[in-house]
Amino acid sequence: MNFTRLVTITAFVSALVPLCAPAQDAGEPYSTHVSKKWKISDRSRPMAVVVTPGTASTDEQPGRPPSDAIVLFDGKDLSQWVGRHGEPAPWYVGNGYFSTEPGKGDIHTKQSFGDCQLHVEWATPNPPHGKDQDRGNSGIYLMSLYELQVLDSYNSTTYTDGQAGAIYAQFPPLVNVSRPPGQWQTYDVVFHGARYSPDGKILRPASETVLQNGVLVQDNSVLTGPTNYMSRPPYKPGPDKAPLLLQDHDHPVRYRNIWIREIKEPAP
Ligand code: MG
Repeated sequence: MNFTRLVTITAFVSALVPLCAPAQDAGEPYSTHVSKKWKISDRSRPMAVVVTPGTASTDEQPGRPPSDAIVLFDGKDLSQWVGRHGEPAPWYVGNGYFSTEPGKGDIHTKQSFGDCQLHVEWATPNPPHGKDQDRGNSGIYLMSLYELQVLDSYNSTTYTDGQAGAIYAQFPPLVNVSRPPGQWQTYDVVFHGARYSPDGKILRPASETVLQNGVLVQDNSVLTGPTNYMSRPPYKPGPDKAPLLLQDHDHPVRYRNIWIREIKEPAP
């Protein structure tokens, strides 16, 4: 092939590429894999397939903190946490765990975090009480914005993007690997926050990978923006770090062994 012909073909292909590129939604100038087939929290959408976790909930320490982790709860006190008005965290501390105090409001960390690896252990009430979303409901909000759902999803149905392991109202879990009420469960999360240009345009959406009880339930899910009930609000420019928040949804859900490792930006 001579050079002139190669240049002509290259120019032709270059002209075609924008025509072939997938259209982007207005207000969503990035790719997420959120389903367009189902409505938000669509109750006709099939629930995640049930999988039995391989590790036993009786394992004493399924995720001991590594040496460089920031320990957010070591079984003793809530000194790393505060209530919604900055007061000492008003939740109950038991023997090696703490619990939501229904009606006392959300709590969040004193420290702010952005990109991170997070380990959390949680258990829903036993005996179980209520059904659907009114059954062992709490939540872990990365940067106080993005809820990883905590719910009793063991032999219990709800809308699939609201069950345990879901990024609430955006991504159902890949499988339902929930343990029975009262048994300890683990979340291991890799989270990357959104980035914005100085003029407020989004450069990178937030993304989240989650293992529940050692099984992948979110595979680098690219978020549409903050999570919310029955809507998907757009991103709003904000800081790279914000507190980690735990939701009070009026159910006494227990937590223990929470630690976090910040993911540093690579050196330029
Ligand atoms: Mg919740």
